[in-house]
Order: sequence, then structure tokens, then C-alpha cells
Amino acid sequence: MIEARSLTKQYGDKTAVNDVSFTVQSGKVTGFLGPNGAGKSTTMRMIVGLDRPTSGSVTVDGKPYADYPAPLHEVGVLLDAKAVHTGRSAYNHLRAMAATHGIPTSRVNEVIEMTGLTGVAKKRVGGFSLGMGQRLGIAAALLGDPRVLILDEPVNGLDPEGVLWVRQLVRYLAAEGRTVLLSSHLMSEMAQTADHLIVLGRGRVIADAPIADILAGD
Ligand code: ADP
Ligand code: ADP
Repeated sequence: MIEARSLTKQYGDKTAVNDVSFTVQSGKVTGFLGPNGAGKSTTMRMIVGLDRPTSGSVTVDGKPYADYPAPLHEVGVLLDAKAVHTGRSAYNHLRAMAATHGIPTSRVNEVIEMTGLTGVAKKRVGGFSLGMGQRLGIAAALLGDPRVLILDEPVNGLDPEGVLWVRQLVRYLAAEGRTVLLSSHLMSEMAQTADHLIVLGRGRVIADAPIADILAGD
């Protein structure tokens, strides 16, 4: 479970996240919906300890990550598609991450298989398409078999088959009882994927309800 209480982030004069409170429950897919600049990524970075709140607090399964990033085996993170610049192969990239985080090497082949990267595991990550990069980012997020997954725009850059795969994957992970929070700027995407929606606008929560209620206009 993720609990944010009056979470606020200011960058100079700019309030990126403004007094935001919400709960993300385990066992369902929760979506962050909002236009570009609404504060989705900033909130996600604060949840995983990659950005420090100006005020307020956020905990993941009761733990705050204000001073250090959440460990891979507790929280898996896909942040807004930044290409991985490395000459390494996908396999070696993931193996290095696993080694750094004390994750058994055997897990690398598991996540490669889960994310459909088997055919390109030996290829250089630097030559990956956006879609393959997204799959690699999701593989990295799954590496530690975490109870909590934070995925920023996971379907970005994926082809239609990849989009369907992500929807299926997140639903499966939630059905296993994990906590899954993903973001999108597309309501159509959320309608296909999320059970619960938190709508952000200009740094504030403007709706927080089961998706069925939002689609019904309640
Ligand atoms: P979203 O993910 O919903 O597109 P962001 O969280 O990326 O929104 O951004 C929210 C607001 O905070 C935007 O106005 C953005 O320009 C600003 N912002 C985000 N990160 C920084 C930063 N490191 N420095 C200054 N402003 C930032
Ligand atoms: P560095 O500080 O050199 O990035 P880390 O060991 O912290 O080394 O991270 C290695 C890689 O793992 C980086 O690509 C980083 O973005 C990614 N990473 C770190 N923490 C997480 C996490 N909780 N979930 C997913 N990826 C992560």
C-alpha cells in the first residue's frame, strides 16, 4: 500500500505537486491520469525516494523513502522513458543491476522471458527501439520481484501488441496481490487497464475513485 499525506513539491516558485493525499491499495491497478505537467512523474519520484518532498510525507508499505531510493526488491520502478545508454547487451545490463542489488543471476533470464526480450537479450541496449527500451525498463522493474510497482507511462513507444501485453502484465501482477501504480495522459488507456483512478491536474488531486464510477460520470 502507498499512502501520501499532504505531499507537496516546489521547484523554486513552481509548485509541481500541491498538497496531494491519496492511498494506493494492493491487489488492484491504480492509475494516475493527467495531462503533461500535472505532477505525475514528480509524485512517482517522491514515492520511490528519488526526489524529496518539500512538505508532507509518503510511505510504501509503511516505509518512507525520503532519504534513499527504495530497494529493487521492494519497489520496482519504470520512470518516464529515458533511453539506457550502454554498450552492454540487455542480458549484461540486467545482470549488472542484479549483482549490484544482491539479486540472483537466475532471475535475469526469468524477467527477460517475462518481458519478451529473449530474442534480443544478446543485442546492445544502445541500439534498442523505444518499445524494446520500455520492455527492458519493465524487466528492470521486475528484477527484484517487488511487492510494489511504479510505472510511469509504461505503454509509451510500444506497438499495439506491446500495449496489450503491458495491460495483461499489470493486471496479472495486481491479481497476485501486488501494489501497481501506473501513469498515463490517456483516459482511453486507463479505461482498459486501471481499477481505480487518481486524476491529477496542476499538481492537485481532482478525482480519486473506482474507474467504474468515473466512467459512469458519478
Ligand atoms: P507529469 O509527469 O504529469 O507530466 P511532472 O511531474 O513531470 O508532470 O511535472 C510537474 C511540473 O513540475 C511541471 O510544470 C514541470 O515542468 C515541473 N518540474 C518537474 N520536474 C522539475 C524539475 N526538476 N525542475 C523544475 N521543474 C520541474
Ligand atoms: P546508479 O546509482 O549507478 O544508477 P543503482 O544501483 O542505484 O546505480 O541503479 C542501477 C540501475 O537500476 C539504474 O539504471 C537505476 O535507474 C535502476 N534502479 C535503481 N533503483 C531502482 C528501482 N527501485 N527499480 C527499478 N530500477 C531501479
